[in-house]
Amino acid sequence: MTSKCFFSNCYDDVSCSEHETWLQLSELKMRKNDSKTFQKADNLLEVALLRADFFYQHKFDLEASFICDLHREVLLSQVHSNKSFSSCDMCSNIKGTSSRAKSDLRHVTIGQAITLFEQYRIRNSYGKLICRQCRAAVSSKTENAREILHIDAFECLFDVHSSMLFGRSNGR
Ligand SMILES: [Zn+2]
Ligand SMILES: [Zn+2]
Repeated sequence: MTSKCFFSNCYDDVSCSEHETWLQLSELKMRKNDSKTFQKADNLLEVALLRADFFYQHKFDLEASFICDLHREVLLSQVHSNKSFSSCDMCSNIKGTSSRAKSDLRHVTIGQAITLFEQYRIRNSYGKLICRQCRAAVSSKTENAREILHIDAFECLFDVHSSMLFGRSNGR
């Protein structure tokens, strides 16, 4: 087997698990996202791509691509189980302070994650918690054109008709 996990490079400290139980990305796409943490993501492939900062992922062969167990675990697990015991994940990076805001927290949206990644070099932020002050800082640096680019790319990637191009209808 020469194929590698599609997400092998998305966290510095996570390396891929053994090959046996890898999951096809087309399979991941079939699983619906029902978590409110990951807003606007329809399926689990979308969640994984967004958390891995692949915002502009072009179309690729989902049946020939895989995710390993470890990356599935990190990319699809809940970020915070209980908001009331949590604090802003962005304060230290954005405001440069060690005190992290604990009130008025929201989950990072796709648009915010794009700005956090591109303007602040903060990786894997989608779905994490962000306070009001950090949201204001992020929105002052947001370029709407970037989110539109993302929407276009994902519309193409998840479009039922154009994905037929890659669909190998049950063998032969
Ligand atoms: Zn992996
Ligand atoms: Zn904050």
